[in-house]
This record gives sequence, C-alpha cells and structure tokens, in this order.
Amino acid sequence: LMAAVMAVSLTACGGGGSSAGSDSSGGDGKAKIGLSMPTQSLERWNRDGAYLEEQFQNAGYDTILTYSDNDSGKQVNDIQNMLADGADLLVIAAIDGEALNTALDEAAEAGVPVIAYDRLIKNDAVSYYVSFDNYTVGTLQGQFVIDKLDLDNTDKTYNMEFTAGDPADNNAGYFFNGAFDTLKPYIDSGKLNVVSGQKDFNTVATEQWNTDVALERAQNILGSYYADGTQLNVWLCSNDSTALGVAQAIESDYKGNNDIIITGQDGDEANLKNIVDGKQTMTVYKNVSNECIATLDLVNGILDDKTIDQDFIDKAGWEFDCVYDTTSYQTSDGNNCNSLLLVPAVITKDNLQDLVDTGLYTMGDDGYLS
Ligand code: BGC
Repeated sequence: LMAAVMAVSLTACGGGGSSAGSDSSGGDGKAKIGLSMPTQSLERWNRDGAYLEEQFQNAGYDTILTYSDNDSGKQVNDIQNMLADGADLLVIAAIDGEALNTALDEAAEAGVPVIAYDRLIKNDAVSYYVSFDNYTVGTLQGQFVIDKLDLDNTDKTYNMEFTAGDPADNNAGYFFNGAFDTLKPYIDSGKLNVVSGQKDFNTVATEQWNTDVALERAQNILGSYYADGTQLNVWLCSNDSTALGVAQAIESDYKGNNDIIITGQDGDEANLKNIVDGKQTMTVYKNVSNECIATLDLVNGILDDKTIDQDFIDKAGWEFDCVYDTTSYQTSDGNNCNSLLLVPAVITKDNLQDLVDTGLYTMGDDGYLS
C-alpha cells in the first residue's frame, strides 16, 4: 500500500480532483494517517483529536496523533516524525498557517497528500481543506447582535467592543471580517459605538486564542473606557476561549449591572455553563464529529482514486450539509484550494437541547452540559 500511496500525485489545491490513487483496503498493511493537532490547552482540539483517532481507527487505518503545545517548531518536528514513521497521508490543524513549510515540502517530496484540517495552511502541498465556513461563523455572530438589539428598528446607540483570535490562525481573520462586515453599517450609522475605538483585526487579536490574554485586554479596556460608568452592551468575541476571558473581566472589572451580549464559538463546556448562567449569550457551534466524518470520507475518496467534487459529497450520505468550494481559499498566490465547508449554527440558552441531540453532550442534573 505504501508504494501505491507514494504514487499518488495529487496536484496542489486548485488542480482539480484527486488523480492517481491506491486501494486503501488492499495491500498488506493498513494505511497510516498522521493526525497533527495544535494543542490540548484549548478544549476543541481534544475533541478533534479524539474523534479523528477513533473514526480513522474504526475505519481500519493506523493513526499517529500528536498535539504540538501551540508551538510551530514542535509541530514541524511532529510532522517530520510522522513522515519518518511512514505516514501515508497527513491531516493537519496548523498552529501557524505559514510556519510549516519545512515539513510540508518534505511531505510533497515523499508524495504524501496533506489535508489542511479546520485551519488553512498556506503551502501548495495541501491537497484539500476541510473546515466550517469560517466567514459565516462571523456573520452569524454579527447578525445575532443585530437581531438581539433589534438594530433595524431602533434609534438607540449601543456600546460595544471586539475581541478576535490568533493572527497566526488563518481562520481568525475570516471570523473577524464576517462579524465586522455584518456590523459595519450599524457602526457607520452610529447605532453601535466601539468606545475604545479598537476596530482593526490586529488591535483586537488574541495571541494563541489565549483566555488570559483576552482577559487582560478586556480588563484594560474596561479600566480605560468604562470605569466612569459608561455602559457596555456588546462584546463581540470570535470564539469561546476568548469569550471566557472577557466574561471574567466583566465579572471582576465592570461597574454596571446591565445585560451584556457576549458572542462565542465552539460550544466549550465552560461557555455552555456561562450561557446557562447568563454570562455569555450565544456560541456558534461547529459539530467537530461531522468535520471528522467529512475528513475520513475525503481520505477514503483520495486513497480510492475517487473524483472529489460536490457530487462526491452529495453521494456520501452525510446527515449534515457540506459545500464543495473551489474559490474561497488560496494556498498561495493564484492557487485556489479545493475545500469542503460545513455549515455552523447558532446556539443560545433556548436551543441547548440541539447539542444534547447530537449525542456528543449530556445534560447533567445541575442543568449544565458536559
Ligand atoms: C477554530 C475555532 C477555535 C479556535 C481556537 C480556530 O481555528 O476554527 O473553532 O475556537 O481555532 O481553538
């Protein structure tokens, strides 16, 4: 099998569907899949790692799973080790989408296909990108704020702040832009006022999506701009790990006692608890188990020499929506990346049951999900 997989000459993103392939079930050994996750310090990647490992193993693959402690140098090493261990295909959620070239060039040289998982990697060795529609995550957050404050039917002004993600993560800009573009008309018309004036991505970004970094910046903003009693109404946070820090800062440092809309993303347990307790308003949920299913079926398709396109997705029989997109993402100038994009959903206090219905969460006697 190894030799057969080595013969796969997948064109880089933008080159169309898969080309020559192999028989993933044939040969002596099982195909070996390298699963490279960024860190265990953020809840979702533990889920991704666990689901990917389980689903690939159940499908008969050997797996190598690594977490790289949010350290790009370590992720390069981890991927190099996977290649040395004979990985036939790599599934990589990058810490820094532009810092893996050394490892990806080796993968390309060895003919090992690479799937950019959740976060795009800017290297033409990437064959496919599997993710949720990242821009839509942001638009859902922005639209939630518009609807919640009924901004189209009010003359009031509401005060708000932004917290975005890690600039090294290619997703972070998409989340922020989706939210900002959606809210911009209301900021321009004065219905939303960013009191700190901090509105550009780099100013509101959060290194490594770190909760404490988000907490500290929020405390600084509250101390500098809201200590005089100025009312805060909205804090648009790109995800749950940052929303957690912002909610903590509000608890410790905000003087008012009005309701504040806080957005998030992921459905992390601590944030779902905050949603139940009214300390966070919504989260954009991305069913990671479905993302893993899409990845597994894509890998099967690649190794079985199937043509990957919308038809392939439609025939996969998934119980979730997924769009085959060939134009939204680029691995390098001029090279579009063929992408499988799943659809995110809004979760509030009112539809927490939807999460329980996925079978991935249980509702405890205390009313909290785990
Ligand atoms: C993921 C988000 C996650 C963030 C921090 C992003 O790349 O798409 O779901 O909240 O990383 O882990």
